[in-house]
Amino acid sequence: MSADLGLKGKAALVTGSASGIGEAIARRLAAEGARVIVHGPLSRSGEAEKVAREIRDSGGEAEVELAELTDAAECARLIAASIARLGRLDILVNNAGISPRGDLEKTDAEFFDRVIAVNLRAPLLLIRAALPHFKANGGGRVLNIGSINAYCGEAGLLAYSVSKGGLTTLTRNLADAHGRDGLRVNQINPGWVLTANEHAIKVREGLSEDWFRQIPREHAPGGRIFQPEEIAHFAVQFLGAQGELVNGTVMELEQFPMIGRNVVKAAGF
Ligand code: NAD
Repeated sequence: MSADLGLKGKAALVTGSASGIGEAIARRLAAEGARVIVHGPLSRSGEAEKVAREIRDSGGEAEVELAELTDAAECARLIAASIARLGRLDILVNNAGISPRGDLEKTDAEFFDRVIAVNLRAPLLLIRAALPHFKANGGGRVLNIGSINAYCGEAGLLAYSVSKGGLTTLTRNLADAHGRDGLRVNQINPGWVLTANEHAIKVREGLSEDWFRQIPREHAPGGRIFQPEEIAHFAVQFLGAQGELVNGTVMELEQFPMIGRNVVKAAGF
């Protein structure tokens, strides 16, 4: 039997939880006894309803709230609606994100603004909208889902990498500014995770359907990349009772060190 994480009855909103890592976190939170809002954009209502229904069918509590996160007013409404539905809000997981490919040449103002709006501005606006409620209720726990790309990132993921770098600073800044209000803001920066979206992106880029079985060991020393459930495992540790003091922590969840790594070099170099 797994240890009680102290999540029973907690009210949680997980953005972008109709798929991928967010879905795994929502399912795991519900399995630990939390009451969960499954969130997605309007275009994904069917998938969000399916996730919520399956959580309920397995004995958990879940409801759906749809909102377009590029819309500032919708971010505020999503928080208000979640509080109204659950009666309170204890946990906010900022997971929704987009990772369109683009180097400097491709990254014009519109492209950049769209990525920043979803990956960085929306988390800020959601936390801002929830803060008065968190303060009034003795605190709240926020977990931001960043990326290892935050530390430099790939050439073709410029806007994405910058957005996750900004998210990392947002996490630390708000943790420092509002720790005394009972707010806890932490972040997981995952490495490569096998989600349906990631699978589809790589197939569109020209890899075979089973690319994830053929990843070179420089990229995946363990012989495979992460499953969303493995990210969810660490997410609930931050959000549970024993994470009560942990604040402003940014955890890399990767299969090799992010700093100081010296990749195995080709012969002769
Ligand atoms: P995903 O596409 O399955 O999940 C992203 C979710 O965000 C989707 O459900 C989508 O509907 C939602 N979303 C996107 N734009 C939105 C908008 N404008 N309004 C409302 N909802 C919106 O992909 P994923 O791989 O599960 O990614 C989840 C998070 O994990 C993202 O923040 C991503 O950057 C991060 N991440 C993923 C990987 C990976 O390898 N898959 C690695 C590191 C970090």
